[in-house]
Amino acid sequence: KTIIDAHNISKTYNKKMVPVKALQDVHLHIEEGEFIALVGPSGSGKSTLLNMIGGLDEPTSGKVIVDGVEITKLSENRLIDFRLKNIGFVFQSFNLIPVLTSKENVGFVLQLQKMPKKEREERVMELLQQVGLEDKVKSKPGELSGGQQQRVAVARALASKPKIILADEPTANLDSKSAENLMDIMAKLNKEEKITFLFSTHDQRVIKKARRVITLVDGKVDSDVQQTSS
Ligand code: ADP
Ligand code: ADP
Repeated sequence: KTIIDAHNISKTYNKKMVPVKALQDVHLHIEEGEFIALVGPSGSGKSTLLNMIGGLDEPTSGKVIVDGVEITKLSENRLIDFRLKNIGFVFQSFNLIPVLTSKENVGFVLQLQKMPKKEREERVMELLQQVGLEDKVKSKPGELSGGQQQRVAVARALASKPKIILADEPTANLDSKSAENLMDIMAKLNKEEKITFLFSTHDQRVIKKARRVITLVDGKVDSDVQQTSS
């Protein structure tokens, strides 16, 4: 089953009247349950592509279809709603709210969705267990290591049971042990919960874990290969 379909995606940024072609005519077809690394030199368009697929920004031309919905046609309000329910995001800088505990950072999204308190608490505990942080429920981001913070971010991304998780260099700020731990958690979620993962990375060890590697160069797909993961 197709989960993401990108047709002729182009994105041009206008910086001080100078156009920058960040993506040029990108086609992408992703099946449910894939585990994909997006690679390429800095400035090749990885973040831009993730932003287009996740509906965080609009392409200049082309269309993006996620789980059968053409998100490039949705109104801003519908897009926000669609994103909340269907797509989880993980960023290299964790993006947690510093004054909130792990539990609160993860529960925040569910609160926005008006999930009743008891149900919410159960779900949050289950999520923190999935990422191995049941003993850090009451810690704030500043009291956690980078690896632990990123695991809170993954738990938060999972809160609304998305079918897709998009991660922009999730291991960039982690030491190699934490990076490996994070990848193992993501691989497990991919296998057991059938969540589709698309993550950009520069890390060879992370790339090795992917089953498919898409390489961008100058805003174009340069290669797209299946590999036997290790
Ligand atoms: P990558 O993630 O592969 O490093 P990006 O998608 O961040 O690549 O950037 C692709 C190109 O688009 C780069 O030339 C970058 O400078 C440019 N770019 C990205 N975002 C913006 C923006 N918001 N405004 C102007 N230029 C941008
Ligand atoms: P990455 O580490 O993924 O390459 P960057 O550090 O290039 O990301 O960019 C981080 C964010 O800033 C992205 O969301 C991107 O869209 C934006 N950005 C990148 N390049 C530019 C630019 N030249 N002008 C404005 N915004 C940019």
